[in-house]
Amino acid sequence: MLKTLIVSNRLPLQLNIKNGKVSSSPSVGGLATGLKSVHKESNGLWIGWNGLIQEDVDSQLVNTVEKVVKEQQCASVTLSKDDFDGFYYGFSNHTIWPMFHYFMEYAKFSNDYWESYKRVNEKFAQVVLENLEEGDTVWIHDYQLMLLPQLIKEKRPDVSVGFFLHIPFPSFEVFRTIPWREQILNGLLGADLIGFHTYDYERHFLSSVSRILGYATSFNSITLADRVVTVDSFPMGIDYEKFSSFAKANQQQTDTTQSELQRRLYHHQEETPEAKMILSIDRLDYTKGIANRIKAYERFLEKYPEYIEKVRLVMLAVPSRSNVKQYKRLKKEIDELVGRINGKFATVSWTPIWYFYRSMPFTNLIDLYTSCEVALITPIRDGMNLVAKEYVACRTDQTGVLILSEMAGAAKEMNEALLINPNDMELIADTIKEAIEMPVSEQKKRNKYMQSRLKRYNVEKWAEDFMNKLKSIKRTEELVK
Ligand code: UDP
Repeated sequence: MLKTLIVSNRLPLQLNIKNGKVSSSPSVGGLATGLKSVHKESNGLWIGWNGLIQEDVDSQLVNTVEKVVKEQQCASVTLSKDDFDGFYYGFSNHTIWPMFHYFMEYAKFSNDYWESYKRVNEKFAQVVLENLEEGDTVWIHDYQLMLLPQLIKEKRPDVSVGFFLHIPFPSFEVFRTIPWREQILNGLLGADLIGFHTYDYERHFLSSVSRILGYATSFNSITLADRVVTVDSFPMGIDYEKFSSFAKANQQQTDTTQSELQRRLYHHQEETPEAKMILSIDRLDYTKGIANRIKAYERFLEKYPEYIEKVRLVMLAVPSRSNVKQYKRLKKEIDELVGRINGKFATVSWTPIWYFYRSMPFTNLIDLYTSCEVALITPIRDGMNLVAKEYVACRTDQTGVLILSEMAGAAKEMNEALLINPNDMELIADTIKEAIEMPVSEQKKRNKYMQSRLKRYNVEKWAEDFMNKLKSIKRTEELVK
């Protein structure tokens, strides 16, 4: 039976190991949800790193882990500590991540990182090749595995290969400065279909391919010597039903079933019914524009002091890559900014910023999405930004205002949000005021459009569209043969 192999850096499961016993729980992330039907219903197999470092596990445990992983229709790629440092922290997060998000000054070009990236992509290729059968399809995900399409295609030209990039693809002028630019492009061109979140990323990729490799490109295809590669945009959606149904259930909670966070938020609303809450949620990453956001909020309080005690910024920063230098520095900067602004504006009964540095369980995220009247999402660069979509999906009565950076992929589909330039503090400060004062009828009108779009183009539809396109390419190729 033909199958689809999904390949991503991490497997969609969390392993729990206690006294030599291994169990697994599924990840709840958007990608796992979107690919569920591809993975489970087509005899599929998901290949990725299982989260364990080779040196930390003995051979007996490895066998037990693999058995548990296999039960979930998955197969593991094993990474050593060196692999993890060079491939993951190194090339993926210290070279590609900053470059592709236009933070060129943060990028490190190290030949050791590059060698490790190549080595680990080959490790992934080996596991994929071991599991491939004639006529299978492979769908590879994200920037950690950009060499994998070519590694598979070279050995198995009969297999249909798709690749999706979950982060932006930068403009040619930025991409061309990477020392391994040709190898990266050739790696990606092993795929039959390459997908991006937006048309802009697609265009940037096409322009790099034609200017660096000299291939002929049209608006969505690249002609190689022996085959044609299709390029297209597929903006990733969310599990709309899940968010909106949890949000509805959340509002029906009683005093006894409410979470502690929800009680605290409600208490705040009861004490100060005219006060508005502004939500900010992201991983603590320099691409997310958190420092600028706090400074813009400060500017708002300075410029419109009538809102002192009538507004609160509820800020959730999720720890991320915390042993990388830039992330440590960012954490310190945010801590200091929050401290300074809280110190500067706080009154006896009011703190301007509620700051949480941790990740929150799903139900608490829903508490935040449903309680806050405004969401302030201001990344400097972001491939998509799912938080923006989740916020709108959770506004079941259609109230709420989304302020969103133009630099997020999501802005392309969310025109009814208040779109801002994340570097323009005055504009953000004024837009916060506009959001707080927006009439309810206007809020509802905007959210209605966005909700119907998000509902229709949800994450299942995203996966289905990509797979259908890949299948249609395969059919066309077979006809031409
Ligand atoms: N999220 C989470 N736990 C948290 C905060 C956020 O699981 O404590 C989720 C959130 O619901 C969203 C994802 O993390 O689905 C963040 O995705 P996004 O595209 O906004 O940013 P990324 O972190 O992928 O850059």
